[in-house]
Amino acid sequence: MPDWQVVVVGAGAAGLMAAARAARRGRQTLLLEKNRKPGVKILMSGGTRCNLTHATDARGIVEAYGSSGRFLHSALAALGPQDVVALFEAEGVPTKVEETGKVFPKSNKAADVLAALIRAMRGSGAELALEEPLEDLRIEAGGFRLVTRRRELTAGKVILTSGGKSYPGCGTTGDGYRWAQALGHTIVRPRPALVPIRSDAAWLPELKGITIPDVLVRVAETDDTSANRQGGPRRSPLTRGDVLTQRRGSFLCTHFGVSGPVALDVSRAITGHDQPRMLDLVCDFLPEVDEESLAEQLAREAQSAGKRRLGTILAQWTVGRLAEVFLQRAAIAADRRAADLSKVERLRLVGSMKRLAIPVAGTLGFEKAEVTAGGVALDEVDSRTLQGKRVANLYFAGELLDLDGPIGGYNFQAAFSTGWLAGERC
Ligand SMILES: Cc1cc2nc3c(=O)[nH]c(=O)nc-3n(C[C@H](O)[C@H](O)[C@H](O)COP(=O)(O)OP(=O)(O)OC[C@H]3O[C@@H](n4cnc5c(N)ncnc54)[C@H](O)[C@@H]3O)c2cc1C
Repeated sequence: MPDWQVVVVGAGAAGLMAAARAARRGRQTLLLEKNRKPGVKILMSGGTRCNLTHATDARGIVEAYGSSGRFLHSALAALGPQDVVALFEAEGVPTKVEETGKVFPKSNKAADVLAALIRAMRGSGAELALEEPLEDLRIEAGGFRLVTRRRELTAGKVILTSGGKSYPGCGTTGDGYRWAQALGHTIVRPRPALVPIRSDAAWLPELKGITIPDVLVRVAETDDTSANRQGGPRRSPLTRGDVLTQRRGSFLCTHFGVSGPVALDVSRAITGHDQPRMLDLVCDFLPEVDEESLAEQLAREAQSAGKRRLGTILAQWTVGRLAEVFLQRAAIAADRRAADLSKVERLRLVGSMKRLAIPVAGTLGFEKAEVTAGGVALDEVDSRTLQGKRVANLYFAGELLDLDGPIGGYNFQAAFSTGWLAGERC
């Protein structure tokens, strides 16, 4: 008889859920955690408010995951977004939906979410072993032998929930990839996702701290190697055509480049590219208006308020300092009068507001990535049970899998759902 029927490795969102579910089903369950405390990422998530899921249904979650979404069908059927909300509410954590569809605890305290998860896990009878990282995992007759920092133990079934390799200071150093690979699984190259983007554009640091609420950002390949990558006037990168991804949302200028939800959401296209410096963020700072209408609006302003400085006119549509950037990038002096603009200049100005190219210099990497893209290949895991197809009784859940979702609570939802299903089927 093994020491434990089930050992779960990693007490994050997925592991806490998996251990609670397995133990609730009567499985004698041990949850191993490397850190002194469980759920460190939950505490720091959503700016310490924890955006625990999204106000949508299972289909909405599947769609947000794109091509890998169908892997989540069974997990979401077992525990969908409404179930997550109900589960936390039943544990004494009322939730609220914000305008963006993000679901948070009403208290705005991630600590409440974590406390509820720990309560559910403890109530289930699972045992939690802290500061006890798994160091080795081997197959043995009747199950597995696990070597931790403190002891050796045996288990009939193992659920790996050790996360990815982003924010390594949280304990997530990619340990699970090593064991999964040693046991025959393919690891899709891990890379940072939901990560701030670096740029050498000289104007960005001058605007640091400024948020622009609604920007359409496209990641585009450029052949513009000759132009000044510091952010001088450039050919439009869209002429080459290859738009890798696009998103719309809030945009934050920083001293190193760009952050905020929209930048994080497009970042996986950058970390997945083999030459990120060949990419531009092509930004539409007025996505509500098309280029033609904007040009007409400018022409009207030239007639009705022709004596006004262009800088003042543009400032009514956007943040004043950004207006200066538009003018500078269109090579037009800010003190020019609206009426003095030629048609060519007007179109150049419209282009700079609707297609401002920000050269990409890279990202802040795993250190600052909210999630890891890549991981245990999905086609080697049975999505109905989360059992791997290489070794019997070895299960996977959470970010360790090759699954990463957009900003908005999707990543916790996937971690909760897959954790729950693995605990249900082990
Ligand atoms: C700053 C930040 C903010 C975020 N905000 C949100 C948000 O608001 N909404 C959202 O949906 N997502 C958010 N995320 C993403 C979300 O935190 C992750 O997707 C989620 O935590 C993944 O859950 P997991 O259980 O798979 O992995 P993790 O939560 O990373 O847990 C893995 C656990 O395994 C442990 N471990 C690792 N190796 C070992 C080992 N050898 N032995 C034992 N234990 C081990 C780790 O210490 C860790 O506790 C955020 C992430 C970050 C970094």
